Amino acid sequence: MTSKPLYTRVLLKASGEALMGSQGFGIDVAVADRIASDIAEARAMGVEVGVVVGGGNIFRGVAVASKGGDRVTGDHMGMLGTVINALALATSLRKQDVETVVLSAIAMPEICESFSQRAAIHHLSQGRVVIFAGGTGNPFFTTDSAATLRGAEIGAQAIFKGTQVDGIYSADPKKDPNATRFDRLTHSEVLEKGLAVMDVTAVALARENNIPIIVFSIHEKGEFGKILAGGGLKTVVSD
Ligand code: UDP
Repeated sequence: MTSKPLYTRVLLKASGEALMGSQGFGIDVAVADRIASDIAEARAMGVEVGVVVGGGNIFRGVAVASKGGDRVTGDHMGMLGTVINALALATSLRKQDVETVVLSAIAMPEICESFSQRAAIHHLSQGRVVIFAGGTGNPFFTTDSAATLRGAEIGAQAIFKGTQVDGIYSADPKKDPNATRFDRLTHSEVLEKGLAVMDVTAVALARENNIPIIVFSIHEKGEFGKILAGGGLKTVVSD
């Protein structure tokens, strides 16, 4: 791809469920490899890419809380799940010769580097993909919030939220044949309409920092690159 990209530094949010593929749990390596190939394409276009991975394919803290356990411990388990996913995606990227580092919000120096804003920006400017693991490092948050937080910290020009469908719809397109895709919305509209695209904290932080959110299908091969080149199917959330 030769076209000049719209952005030079972006943050991609990939949910844990995206990595799961059609399995009920865990990581489908073929899917991780495919998502990695889209990131490789963005790198080849000269775009600096930070990635936040979710952990829902492994564990969610609320699962502990809903059975009477301690939410904070459950969230620690969830955050550790995101580290497993980050290592899997890093492996897929390195197989494709994409230089990649994993920076964790929770220190585990034998496994990966710890997050700092300075380290993140250093690696990005050296052309490495930076995968942010461990969410925000705090319980009661989500990896969507981590995506906006890390996006703001690295000065990302846009947050790419990869979802199961190709944008934000007026209703669930899998259930309602009349559902239509929004081309453009403001952050405030997303919040006011209660559109379930990212959690409220994540959207509010993006609004406060004036960061556009681009919602697209993570399952469409090549779509990330197409949108970076100015095309593709998506909903753009910006003020
Ligand atoms: N989590 C957390 N703090 C964070 C990010 C994540 O406690 O900053 C925990 C939380 O339990 C969450 C789990 O990690 O349910 C997995 O993250 P998330 O649900 O956001 O993953 P996704 O839905 O994107 O796969």
